[in-house]
Amino acid sequence: MSALPTTAVIGVIGAGAMGAGIAQVAAQAGHSVVLHDNQPGAASAGIDNIRRQLEKRVAKGKMRQEEVDGIVARLQPADAIDALADSRLIIEAIVENLEVKRQVFAQLEALCSPDTLLASNTSSLSITSIAANLERPERLAGLHFFNPAPVMKLVEVVSGLATTIETAETLYATATAWGKVAVHASSTPGFIVNRVARPFYAEGLRLLQEGASDAATLDALLRQAGGFRMGPFELMDLIGHDVNYAVTRSVFDAYYGDTRFEPSLVQQALVEAGRLGRKSGQGFFDYR
Ligand code: NAD
Repeated sequence: MSALPTTAVIGVIGAGAMGAGIAQVAAQAGHSVVLHDNQPGAASAGIDNIRRQLEKRVAKGKMRQEEVDGIVARLQPADAIDALADSRLIIEAIVENLEVKRQVFAQLEALCSPDTLLASNTSSLSITSIAANLERPERLAGLHFFNPAPVMKLVEVVSGLATTIETAETLYATATAWGKVAVHASSTPGFIVNRVARPFYAEGLRLLQEGASDAATLDALLRQAGGFRMGPFELMDLIGHDVNYAVTRSVFDAYYGDTRFEPSLVQQALVEAGRLGRKSGQGFFDYR
């Protein structure tokens, strides 16, 4: 299957860390992108943030201002979901909650043409479940980008039980055309990377709880001696503890409470305190 042509309009739902990043990737690849968020003004704020990030690259001589202007001109903010009606592919990047995602896709199915492709950026939820109540579940797949989406190369193309080969192949080819390294996966809890990454966070949290060392030291050790790009604590702060805790719970529940995936009370406390990491200014570390 070939990639979607650059004339295809891409819709993105959720203008948070991931949605804004995915919208940027699609616009950089030449598509017109409609970015929708249900919080009034959030989509515009997301696009303003993209411009600011890109202009930093201009200041460093890594990009031309005309390129930035072209990318931003292809990004259209929308507070109403109806603006996604003409999209050829819609990528959902909202809260990690099965029921909310199902409701959004049901709304989209009523809104879009029958051949619009639907994709979820879920980190862990079952693609089979997300699609289960749709009239045409065969056109939905996972399209799992990593954070930050414009930088990270890998994209998991996740097939649920109903996803057709055509849907998965078109998304694979499209992600590849967008400069990503795509991989096919079937819908198992956490897919490939988040399944393997859970113990990385869990063991870090256990070491912290057992008093082995403090978060900054553990991060530095794993970065410098362990060869990891980031330590578990700074990485969780980047992901957002609300998102990471929801993903941990989802993988834990999906494996019937397998203790390897057990959520940590430290994570829970951070979420309860609103210390969500970089996005709230405080997590394991202080960003204020
Ligand atoms: P985020 O909290 O930064 O952003 C979510 C955005 O979705 C918010 O702006 C919110 O207003 C909006 N939203 C919520 N419900 C909505 C609805 N019903 N309709 C429209 N907009 C809605 O979250 P994020 O970190 O960008 O994560 C989004 C998704 O991407 C989750 O499924 C998450 O698991 C997945 N993901 C996250 C990461 C990460 O590192 N943060 C990485 C890969 C995948």
